[in-house]
Formats: sequence, structure tokens, C-alpha cells
Amino acid sequence: MADEKLTTQAENFSEWYNQVVLRAEMADYSPVRGCMVVRPYGWALWENIQQSLDRRFKATGHVNAAFPMFIPMSFLEKEKEHVEGFSPELAIVTHGGGQKLEEPLVVRPTSETIIGYMYSQWIKSYRDLPILINQWANVVRWEMRTRLFLRTLEFYWQEGHTAHATEAEAREETRRMMDQYTNFAIEDAAVPVIPGRKSETEKFAGAVQSISMEAMMGDTKALQAGTSHFLGQNFAKAFDIKFLDQNNVLQYAWTTSWGFSTRFIGAIIMTHGDDHGLVLPPKLAPIQVVIVPIARNDADRSTVMPVVERVASELGANFRIKVDDRSEVTPGFKFNDWELRGVPLRLEIGPKDIEKGVVTAARRDKPGREGKSTLALDQLTAQVAELLTEIHASMYDKAEAFRDAHIYDPKNYDELKEVVQNGWAFSWWCGSKECEARIKEETKATTRCIPFNQPDGEGRCIYCGQPASEKVYFARAY
Ligand code: AMP
Repeated sequence: MADEKLTTQAENFSEWYNQVVLRAEMADYSPVRGCMVVRPYGWALWENIQQSLDRRFKATGHVNAAFPMFIPMSFLEKEKEHVEGFSPELAIVTHGGGQKLEEPLVVRPTSETIIGYMYSQWIKSYRDLPILINQWANVVRWEMRTRLFLRTLEFYWQEGHTAHATEAEAREETRRMMDQYTNFAIEDAAVPVIPGRKSETEKFAGAVQSISMEAMMGDTKALQAGTSHFLGQNFAKAFDIKFLDQNNVLQYAWTTSWGFSTRFIGAIIMTHGDDHGLVLPPKLAPIQVVIVPIARNDADRSTVMPVVERVASELGANFRIKVDDRSEVTPGFKFNDWELRGVPLRLEIGPKDIEKGVVTAARRDKPGREGKSTLALDQLTAQVAELLTEIHASMYDKAEAFRDAHIYDPKNYDELKEVVQNGWAFSWWCGSKECEARIKEETKATTRCIPFNQPDGEGRCIYCGQPASEKVYFARAY
């Protein structure tokens, strides 16, 4: 498989994506439409992502718990916008144990309702607040057009659900968790993201305000890579989440929710991947360093293997490593294979290297000569650590430069139509739903987010010419 040529990104980006996911054994199609099988290599990446986020959640005071995957239909109906938004995507269980159920059960598309119900049982006084719970789970949304990782019918995610005594605290939490997501994306995944507010049209069903982080993929389309919602008192009122405040007055709580899914694996693939396959960020890669022994004959092997074993045990103490000692395939085949799988660093160890006291290193982010160097055998751990840090930084810089080169400030609407064919437009927008809908209809570009970072001054709406106080990103999106 590894020697079969991939479709290039320029030929057909979406075909390139599917081939990379399948051939790198990240995921496979399942017999159930729209569901995916996450293969061990893909799951190992997800586990590293989970650990990395979970650490951040715990450090900001959250704890994990688990809630049921079935939700009584009547729970969803309690919040009008929520049920309207999610109705078309619900999977509903009507029978169980051979009997028709008295009340249908929804397979959770998200858990605000059932968790809201439980919070109403647990929260009595201001002393019970805030409540900061996260769950790692799978959810089901009956999506019509699915893509592996990006949009599946069943997907894996975490959903945080918090309740607070004041509006200010809940709004602060909504931002805090978006900051955690963006910090993860930048620091651990080397994915540059832009955080900002969603428009009224694009916000979560039942939220007062949604914020998201948006990333540019290698074909310049946008991907919503994580969301955090300020739910106001909407769910508290629907589920009667009330508490006695310090003055003994009964108040509704303020709630938030925030979610991040296996879609992000798609973001990593489409941000960093190239025509040779995956390029994984060192901090998350299941295998950070692959060691390939170079031995033509038995004599070579007896010189090389003891050194390989020594290097493996030294590096294995600090990095996730793999020794590829397959004898049935050539080194060239192995190089292609690990390139396809995106391993950040390859070390080649042959008799000539050993003579000189070195190993040959090849960086995945810079295929070819440019990414090759020799490392001293006696300083390997330090030099590998340095190289992995450099790889992370250079992956981030490359992705950011690509993004910035494809963000435009069109002079007028005609120019906007042009630039969103292969990039994003950063434009003034009057905030009206009509202008947003027209632009979407005429260009397929939607408002991605109104970034927190805004330029000074005012402008005129790119569509209607009316005064506008904020700029927004318009882009075609996944
Ligand atoms: P939401 O609860 O709608 O705010 O979704 C939270 C996050 O889950 C979004 O920001 C997406 O990144 C992700 N997501 C939503 N729908 C899907 C899907 N069908 N497949 C994979 N990820 C999804």
C-alpha cells in the first residue's frame, strides 16, 4: 500500500484526504452509513489529544463524570430552540426488550438536557456552585453528508457542562474554555486557530452566545474546530436549576457548555498533511521517532542491531518510539511507509553512521535534503528533543503563513465573491441576517466568526454598504 502513489492535494484535495485517512490506517468506513471505525493508530492520536485536553480541564478545576446515552424525548422538548435545532438530527429509540417504550428515548446528540435535569437535583444553594463537570463520550447526530472524522453520524468528543451563580462567572467560563482549546490547538497541535463569536444564525441551538475557533485547511476551507457556549438561564429555566443565594433569595443558575470532537483529527490531517501523507505534530504523534536499521547483510546486522537496541532503550525513556526491524521490506519502503503515517522524525542507523558515532535524522515536515541532519550518538536525547521542538515550531509557522497568505480584505462584494473561491474574506458586516444569508446563497461562504481581535474604527458592510462596527470572516467551510 505504501508504495502506491497518493492522489496529490492539487489534483483532488478531498480524494487525497480520504486516501490518507484510509492508507495511514487512521479510520475505516463502517457497515453503518456515516459511522466510522477509528483504527488503533487513529485512536492512539485521539488518546494523546484527550490527555492533553484533560490535563487543561483538570488544571482549571473541572472533574469528569458519565451520564446516560439515552435521554427522554420530553427533556429535549423543554427548551424550544434546542429541540428545533436538533430535531432533524435525532436518532430515536422506540422499542426496548421487545416492547414499545412508553416514552421514546433520544440517543444523545449532546447532553445539556439530561445534565441540566441532574443539576436541578444537585444544586440547592449558592454553596453548591459552581459545578464544573466534563464527560468524554460518544454522541449521535443523524448527519446526511458525512466525511471520516470531519462529520460523522456517531462521533467521540468531550462535553463540558457548568453551572454558576452569576452571569459574569458563566461568561468568564465560556471564554476560559475557549482559551484552553486555542492553547491546545496552538501549543500541542501546531494548528493556528482564530477564536471569535458566532453569528446569531450560526450559534448553538439554545445558546445565548456561541464562540468557536476556526482553522484554515490546506484547501483554504474553514473548519470549526471547537465551540464554547454561554447558555444564559435558558436551560436553567427549562430544567428548574435554582439555588438560594446568600440573601436566601431563589435564583436561576447560569450555565455553559463546550465541546471538542474527533473532527479535530481531520483538522490536523488537513492543516499539516502533504503529498506524501500525514504530517503529525510531535506533541501528539502516537510515534514520535521511528528508528530504521540499515543493514545489507548479516555482518551489518550484527554491528547495527546492538546500537539500535541501545538507542531505542535510551530514547524510549523520553519519547514514543518504534524500531522498524522488518526484514521483508527495504529501507526505502519503510521510509515511505512512515512518511505516509506522518511520524515527525526518522532515525537511520547504518554501519557507516556507527563508525562516525552518529545517526542520520530525517524530518517529516521537511522531506528531502533540507530535513536531513546527523546527530551525535552520545547526545541523542538532547538533540532529538531539540529537533522535535523545532519541528513543532516550523509546522506552526508554515500553517500560519499559509493561512495569512489566503486571508483577503476585499474592496467590494465582487472582490469578495472572487476571494472566497480560494481563501477567506475578512470584511465589515452590518450584522444583519439578510446580508449573511445572501452572501451564503450567492457564494457558499458563511460567516465563520467575529474575531475577538478587531481592528479600530468602523466600516461599511461588504454587502449592503450600511455602517458596520465589526469585521467577520467569510469562508466556505467543512
Ligand atoms: P456543538 O455541540 O454543536 O457546539 O459541537 C461541538 C463540536 O463538535 C463542534 O465545534 C465540532 O467541532 C464538533 N462536531 C459537531 N458535529 C460533528 C459531527 N457530526 N462529527 C464530528 N464532529 C462534530
